[in-house]
Amino acid sequence: MVIFKKVADLQKYISAQIEQKSIIGFVPTMGALHNGHRSLIEKAKAEGKVVVCSIFVNPTQFNDKNDFEKYPITVDADTEILINAGCDILFLPSVDEIYPGGTEKVQTFDFGYLDTILEGEKRPGHFKGVGQVVGRLLDIVEPHYLYMGQKDYQQCMVIKKLLEIKGKQNEIQLIICPIIREADGLAMSSRNRRLTEPQRNIASTIYQCLVSIQSRQNSGDFGIVQKECIELLNKKGFVTDYVAIADARDLKLLDNYDQDSPMIALIAAKVGEIRLIDNILLN
Ligand code: AMP
Repeated sequence: MVIFKKVADLQKYISAQIEQKSIIGFVPTMGALHNGHRSLIEKAKAEGKVVVCSIFVNPTQFNDKNDFEKYPITVDADTEILINAGCDILFLPSVDEIYPGGTEKVQTFDFGYLDTILEGEKRPGHFKGVGQVVGRLLDIVEPHYLYMGQKDYQQCMVIKKLLEIKGKQNEIQLIICPIIREADGLAMSSRNRRLTEPQRNIASTIYQCLVSIQSRQNSGDFGIVQKECIELLNKKGFVTDYVAIADARDLKLLDNYDQDSPMIALIAAKVGEIRLIDNILLN
């Protein structure tokens, strides 16, 4: 695996790969890698791509300064995981390299409705930052394929929209990869390593709620299931941001189960300082 810190060096290397007819698969991350990230690298590799992974903790997408400052940095362990997963190129830029004109004047994109619901509502400015960094990274890497996790489903929808806004939806294929979970169902996340033991023990309640929302989709009344989930989460010690169902195509929120639409259930809840999100496709 080759490692680049400078945009110019990375681009020179990628150009040489493309001249040899390689197809570039790109996996943007914020590091503190786990098997969820690894699955994206392995999928890209298995599909025969030259795999570029970036590790960049993007300051402009953190609405919570404390969350940014405490974000785990584990570059040496990450490098080893990437080598073992078969990653070809690691891009490790500095903030100046990504935002040479500073972080204040970076181009922003309008994601409309997607930026006002769920994560957009609870984390104001978050998707603006995600759009900025992914927009810039795509301009740098110019991949053929972009691999992202269903774990951040709303982010996937935002990036789909970003590709449309940039007119790149035909040039760059977005591949949404399944959620990798711990044995008890907890979705893997870089933030999980900040959970205390008691917090870790209750963390899988979120997944249990998602499974119950899924298994009761023919019961007729999402409102009752939603209320029970919020009560259970709160009883276990979470502060629940939302328990929602939506149309999986456009994330339009649904008041009730609708078997005529592909549905997704989504939960965000905080345990102590740690905010966890997860989702499940229903039908
Ligand atoms: P992050 O480092 O959190 O920005 O995540 C980088 C990429 O890995 C994003 O596309 C995430 O959706 C994806 N990802 C994170 N956790 C998981 C998981 N448990 N399973 C699958 N993909 C994941």
